[in-house]
Amino acid sequence: MDFRDLKAQYQALKDKIDSAIIDVVTEGNFIMGKQVTEFEQSLAEYVGVKHCITCANGTDAMTMVLMAWGIQKGDVVFVPDFTFFATSEVVSFMGAVPVFIDVDKDTFNMDFKKLEEGIKKVIEDGKYNPKAIITVDLFGLCADYNEIEKIAEKYNLLLLEDGAQGFGGSINNKHACSFGNAAATSFFPAKPLGCYGDGGAIFTNDDNAAEYLKSIRVHGKGSFKYDNVRIGVNSRLDTIQAAILQQKFQAFKDYELECINKIASVYTKKLKEIVKTPDIPEGYISSWAQYTIVLKSNKERDVLKTYLEKKGIPIVIYYPKPLHMQAAYKNLGYKLGDFPVSEMLSNCVLSLPIHPYLKERDIEFITKLIKEWVNKQEE
Ligand SMILES: *Cc1c(COP(=O)(O)O)cnc(C)c1O
Repeated sequence: MDFRDLKAQYQALKDKIDSAIIDVVTEGNFIMGKQVTEFEQSLAEYVGVKHCITCANGTDAMTMVLMAWGIQKGDVVFVPDFTFFATSEVVSFMGAVPVFIDVDKDTFNMDFKKLEEGIKKVIEDGKYNPKAIITVDLFGLCADYNEIEKIAEKYNLLLLEDGAQGFGGSINNKHACSFGNAAATSFFPAKPLGCYGDGGAIFTNDDNAAEYLKSIRVHGKGSFKYDNVRIGVNSRLDTIQAAILQQKFQAFKDYELECINKIASVYTKKLKEIVKTPDIPEGYISSWAQYTIVLKSNKERDVLKTYLEKKGIPIVIYYPKPLHMQAAYKNLGYKLGDFPVSEMLSNCVLSLPIHPYLKERDIEFITKLIKEWVNKQEE
């Protein structure tokens, strides 16, 4: 059993993917071939924004947005404390200060009340300029944009949606990667929509930002590649990856997103009486980057993890260490106890195998093991 079975997906789409790859190799358009522009157009249309700018990975996508916004030393960007390191790394990379915000215990996403407290504190301190918020659609579930967009407006902050895990999700039919001033996603193989290497994309309705982003992704180009009007980077999506993604995106829209939602609901039905299962708020659809349960203690989580692994079930802990406890952020002066929810989650979460090709009998096997284990604990 695989945690996310990319081989099963390849077998299902093999003929289409193989011929898409062969087309690129035959045509020889490896950089910015027509598949890249076509893929960008279909992504923008699906997400419901004016511009999609693909790039080399999700981290670059976020960095480039912060470059477009001129984020620099002296600025503060608010980020959730419970996420993958890249979310705050890009802020530090720009020389700005990430200010961590605790998350909600049920959605795992940024707690909007704590966000407002955090913003007020930075304003009161007066040491740094609050400039932006990065929200994360953790495990496939959109952050609370109804509340967070209001807060961003109230305090005149730019909002970047880190939709690396959220692509395909929605709130009342408004798609992930359409919230805030700009959004970023990742096509890392294990993400909801993944390629066969690294890849990423930026989404925005802002014409000026889109123009700027297209320039900086190719060395700050002006009218052509050897006319350089600003300092940029080299961050393009390979044509081969775009061609693979076109095929995978079709399957994603046609059935994968629906399948993975069915699988998640089977998990929830079988587990909700015995462990804490994911909470999907009314009107939200998750793209299920992960299916994450919460155990009662760190000890219980670790023992269950070992037990399931012994039975051959691949298990991953996303994430064992909150951002404020990372060695890279020692200098920021945070300590244990600063973000109780994020700390509790890092001790108690456990992610189960999930992907659109997971078999009914595998879910049956996994949930049966968990049930037996829980019953044994209660004896
Ligand atoms: C994967 C991920 C990223 C980074 O994407 P890459 O394509 O690996 O650079 C950023 N944020 C979150 C929440 C992620 O899960």
